[in-house]
Amino acid sequence: MNRLRPALEEALAAEREELLESLRRLGVADERVLEAIGRVPREQFVPEAFQDRAYRNLALPIGHQQTISQPWVVARMTEALEVTDRTKVLEVGTGCGYQSVVLSLLCRRLYTIERHKGLKDEAERRFRHFGLTNITTHLGDGSLGWPEQAPFERIIVTAAAEDIPPVLLSQLAEGGIMIVPVGSQASDGEQRLYRVDKGPLGLEIEDMGEVRFVPLVAGVAAPA
Ligand code: SAH
Repeated sequence: MNRLRPALEEALAAEREELLESLRRLGVADERVLEAIGRVPREQFVPEAFQDRAYRNLALPIGHQQTISQPWVVARMTEALEVTDRTKVLEVGTGCGYQSVVLSLLCRRLYTIERHKGLKDEAERRFRHFGLTNITTHLGDGSLGWPEQAPFERIIVTAAAEDIPPVLLSQLAEGGIMIVPVGSQASDGEQRLYRVDKGPLGLEIEDMGEVRFVPLVAGVAAPA
């Protein structure tokens, strides 16, 4: 029996509260988003070696050279997406599934695409474990979107594209919102997070600031 376990759990519960406070201080105002983040046990989305850091405001490795985004970034992206329980959302880059679970608590249905089979399978296992039935996963190249299910009222991309992907824009419903990190794929290059509003007269693009994401890569990854 691991006697450290209860101590870790207690420490994590306290840190989870502190994380929500720090997100509020950083300007996250939507209580629905904060409540959803408060409900999701982030330690269950990271390898055991990093569980003690699950509620720090840090990106952490999840295998396959990929990362789970920083909680502040998840909070800002979720808030900017303005989802309700009537919204149909596409997510490109399931990763460990943390952002997916936060969104699924707030939206009607989430479609999520991942190019690494290992990550997709693990994420699906978590969705089942949490009893979430409004998430549909797909192994594939998310830069092609999901034409069979389009249009989407919201699209969130969690890997950095070289440009705002036109294919995804074409699958965004009119009146829809897309959140996408865009910029250099080089480790020292600049990336900006954009919110794109698709109005009847065209696109409105808001720059939400500098971010750091793993690159959006074409095609499905070869089995590990
Ligand atoms: N939202 C995730 C962040 C994962 S990092 C989380 O909460 O964990 C970005 C993910 O995008 C990685 O898992 C990477 O494999 C995936 N990805 C990169 N390019 C992709 C593409 N073209 N299609 C689908 N997934 C992609």
